[in-house]
Amino acid sequence: MSRPLVALTAIPKDAGTPMGAIPHQTLNDVTFEVIAEAGGDPILVPVKWVDAREMLTRVDAVLLTGGGDVDPALYGSSDPAEEIIRHRDDFELELARAALEQDVPLLAICRGHQLLNVALGGTLTSSVPPNHWDVEGWRTGAHSVTIEPGSKVQEMFGSSLRVNSIHHQAIDRPGDLRVIAYSGDGVPEAVEVDGHPFAIGVQWHPEFMTKEFPEQQLLFDALVEAARERKRYR
Ligand code: MN
Repeated sequence: MSRPLVALTAIPKDAGTPMGAIPHQTLNDVTFEVIAEAGGDPILVPVKWVDAREMLTRVDAVLLTGGGDVDPALYGSSDPAEEIIRHRDDFELELARAALEQDVPLLAICRGHQLLNVALGGTLTSSVPPNHWDVEGWRTGAHSVTIEPGSKVQEMFGSSLRVNSIHHQAIDRPGDLRVIAYSGDGVPEAVEVDGHPFAIGVQWHPEFMTKEFPEQQLLFDALVEAARERKRYR
């Protein structure tokens, strides 16, 4: 069987060219690497120019990537936010909801984890506890999380895991999903959607930690395994 296709959502950025700064659809290399390492074929999907629902009929899994803030207006708040790209929010909300409806395996990282909560009716906060943000530990980890029994994430990692913490938004009120991991200072750090074959959100960036902590690769291995299952039966 050929390798399953995993759609990675692009991060829109203006990039320098000889003609000046021009809008690009981008993604860091390591996210492609961890999917390929797991046995999947990663493909970059622009967050514009593509019909999200139609695209889902051609891929076996989706990875919602990190990036700037979700527009607070989308969860009824006027909180301050940074780097809002509304067309990206709209595309990824459509994509997340369609993947949930169609049982497409879904892994949501950092901003993606927050967006998944908004897609399911939850809200975010822009006030994480003091010192929760820690960009220094992006590869080595910044805090640990306690993981609840009876979750896929707990089956992968056990009840405790060291994670990085490069986020200044967090889940406030959970939507129609289950928070299954918290940091010591009470931030929701991982979620799962019950009744779906594989829909997991993590507030940290596992793709940056796999060199120092190889077990972080298990999330991508599990996503690609779920993608293989879907490919077999669709
Ligand atoms: Mn954190």
